[in-house]
Amino acid sequence: MYTSGKPRAKPHCFLASLGMKQEGSLRVLVKGVTDLEPGDHVLPVFTGECKECRHCKSEESNMCDLLRINTDRGVMLNDGKSRFSIRGQPIYHFVGTSTFSEYTVVHVGCLAKINPAAPLDKVCVLSCGISTGLGATLNVAKPKKGSSVAIFGLGAVGLAAAEGARISGASRIIGVDLNASRFNEAKKFGVTEFVNPKDHDKPVHEVIAEMTNGGVDRSVECTGSVSAMISAFECVHDGWGVAVLVGVPNKDDAFKTHPMNVLNERTLKGTFFGNYKPRSDIPSVVEKYMNKELELEKFITHEVPFSEINKAFEYMLSGAGLRCIIKMDA
Ligand SMILES: [Zn+2]
Repeated sequence: MYTSGKPRAKPHCFLASLGMKQEGSLRVLVKGVTDLEPGDHVLPVFTGECKECRHCKSEESNMCDLLRINTDRGVMLNDGKSRFSIRGQPIYHFVGTSTFSEYTVVHVGCLAKINPAAPLDKVCVLSCGISTGLGATLNVAKPKKGSSVAIFGLGAVGLAAAEGARISGASRIIGVDLNASRFNEAKKFGVTEFVNPKDHDKPVHEVIAEMTNGGVDRSVECTGSVSAMISAFECVHDGWGVAVLVGVPNKDDAFKTHPMNVLNERTLKGTFFGNYKPRSDIPSVVEKYMNKELELEKFITHEVPFSEINKAFEYMLSGAGLRCIIKMDA
């Protein structure tokens, strides 16, 4: 779910202002902020970019030391306090954005300044899952034109990964999901073939190896299931195959594969937020949408007003692959 208009909670910061992906225009700035002006259009992002630390200075990393996602902090960095309260009780921030509110306070390092002509109720989806899947393919898996790509998990992130494969010119995009009702929808994102592991007696990596004469060139795993992660790795071709892990596993999961799978020149990679640096890179993803290279409309199946937010949760929990924008009430 995404919020469009003006801004989840954690157990030990019980009262929290929820919401993590949204857009808005900037009203007020704090002294010292030099690269934004009131009226700028911005995407608040759940992870930040300070531009000063080793990670921000590295071309390879987006894991900012200062502002990388922190679900436990709940307060502003400079004074350790929340900017929200109710009847004298603090309400904690959520992942630095707290976007289910008409006004919010965000660290400048978590704001991506974007093209003011971009429709905010569309590009808000780039603040999290869509950039995560898209970047996993474009920035990390990097499939070549004409190559084969397997996408594990056809939720929003997986569909965005498929969109990245489509943009890259992949000739075969194989969608893998246990829920066959997602297959039709995935065709819109360039998925050409489908594998439902439930339909096969043999392991899914063997099914894919048979379909592709030895394995796919690239795979992107977007489920968080450790068995899917292992399959995603073992289904890439020896000699050149690259598998990228995107989904977040359970705390006690362990990734197990025979070392020969690596020695046979398969590469396993992981990525966070599609390796995009929020401030430096997300504006250019917005431009990809503006010049029609990237299609965002098809990611949004429903819109609900904020006053009916519970409907959005119903859509999410239905498991029917519904992807919803929450519009803040005027
Ligand atoms: Zn940094």
